[in-house]
Amino acid sequence: MGKPAFQAKLWGARGTLASDSKSTVRYGGNTACVEITCGSERLLFDAGSGLRAAGDHMAREAKKLDRSGAPRKNLNLFFTHCHYDHISGLPFFAPFFDPKTTVNIWSGHLSGPNKTQRMIDNYMCPPYFPVGPEVFSASVTYHDFEVHDILKPVKDVVVKTLPLNHHDECVGYRIEFDGRSISYITDTTHIPGKMDQGIVEFVEGTDLMIYDATYTDAEFPTFWNFGHSTWEEGVRISKAAGVKRYCVFHHRPSRTDKDLDKIDEQCKRAFKRSWIGREGLVIKV
Ligand SMILES: [Zn+2]
Ligand SMILES: [Zn+2]
Repeated sequence: MGKPAFQAKLWGARGTLASDSKSTVRYGGNTACVEITCGSERLLFDAGSGLRAAGDHMAREAKKLDRSGAPRKNLNLFFTHCHYDHISGLPFFAPFFDPKTTVNIWSGHLSGPNKTQRMIDNYMCPPYFPVGPEVFSASVTYHDFEVHDILKPVKDVVVKTLPLNHHDECVGYRIEFDGRSISYITDTTHIPGKMDQGIVEFVEGTDLMIYDATYTDAEFPTFWNFGHSTWEEGVRISKAAGVKRYCVFHHRPSRTDKDLDKIDEQCKRAFKRSWIGREGLVIKV
């Protein structure tokens, strides 16, 4: 018997703002949403606009399961933080409207009691949104954690957490399963010439790192205080930490397919096993 499946699927790889146009059609315009398959379990990370398509897919799969009489699994959705590009898809997640579904929502970037529930209540709230989470018919459970906590959301999967260098706090994740690992490091910034040792240690030897590469090194001096990093810094971290595969993620809204093709070429020259994040991309580890 082969190894159990362990993979990342990107439902949205854009950062900051969804950007759908003719010039972004190949890499996609939806914002952050990553599905991690660990054997028969699936974990979702971030609820950017890419979450809508992920939810539609899961709703179709749930119907198939029901027809076959197989039991459904609970869904687990983790937030890095709640800037709009990481939460805007949340109200449009089809499984929330299915009374036979249970969704666990996890977050650790805010402080105080009931922080995960507060985050959702404050987002789905007039005058910014017409209805609150009371419209969900699924069973929704909110889970709070503190950064650095080690989580065990489902059997045989360990999720480690790390504070990132971002406005309003943000959490990096390292998902460990079957002796392998996938690290999801977005949104974070760096100081040029001074590698973030916390991240280097956290992602040490990881089989795949998905990293905030909003900018290029050449653009960085203009945007040094925007809370994001560069694809080149991702390469430097990958080399320093012995990362096995590197995925460039959280693309600027203005980045066209042609721009990303060019970064792909440059990045592969600097680090062979690298991918430019695009919607639908699956990376197996
Ligand atoms: Zn973001
Ligand atoms: Zn952010």
